[in-house]
Amino acid sequence: MPPETVERLRNAIRDVLDFPKPGIVFKDITPVLGHGTLFREAIDLFLERCRTQEIDKIVCIDARGFLFGSAVAYALGVGLIPIRKKGKLPYKTQRAAYALEYGEAEIEMHVDCLEPGERIVLIDDLLATGGTSASAITLITAIGGVLVEAQFLIELEFLHGREKLEPTPVISFLKY
Ligand code: AMP
Repeated sequence: MPPETVERLRNAIRDVLDFPKPGIVFKDITPVLGHGTLFREAIDLFLERCRTQEIDKIVCIDARGFLFGSAVAYALGVGLIPIRKKGKLPYKTQRAAYALEYGEAEIEMHVDCLEPGERIVLIDDLLATGGTSASAITLITAIGGVLVEAQFLIELEFLHGREKLEPTPVISFLKY
């Protein structure tokens, strides 16, 4: 991963103060999405990492995780599992509740989204407290998925989210 790529991405990500609640510094990735080269470079960070692994499917989290996860799954030619906020998936689901840096939420996954033993990489835009990803990992492993790694464009290290994901290996490209 060339350091200048990481720096270009870091410079593009915008801090929005007090969004969605007072005290939160929101990492806005839309300037990366809106710039063709930067968006491709961000996807390539995930891709480069995934190409070193044997993967059956990518799991990604509603909603910004979809932006990165779907491009990576397309490029690898592997399946995509969307984990969605409560009430969005049409078929039978398994659900988990969790706490966010700025609130509470519930996520769901289709019960038939993977076969036991399939090797899964989780992709999301940002690791904060780790509550969302930890719940996603619980859902995936409960139906027999093997979590190869969790990958994030951004990690807020001061929130120690990766500790919640243990023993799943965690990779992040931009640390704050
Ligand atoms: P967490 O469960 O605390 O790790 O929160 C992770 C999810 O919330 C990710 O899907 C992010 O999209 C979002 N999120 C949490 N904190 C922030 C933040 N400071 N800036 C941008 N997104 C955030």
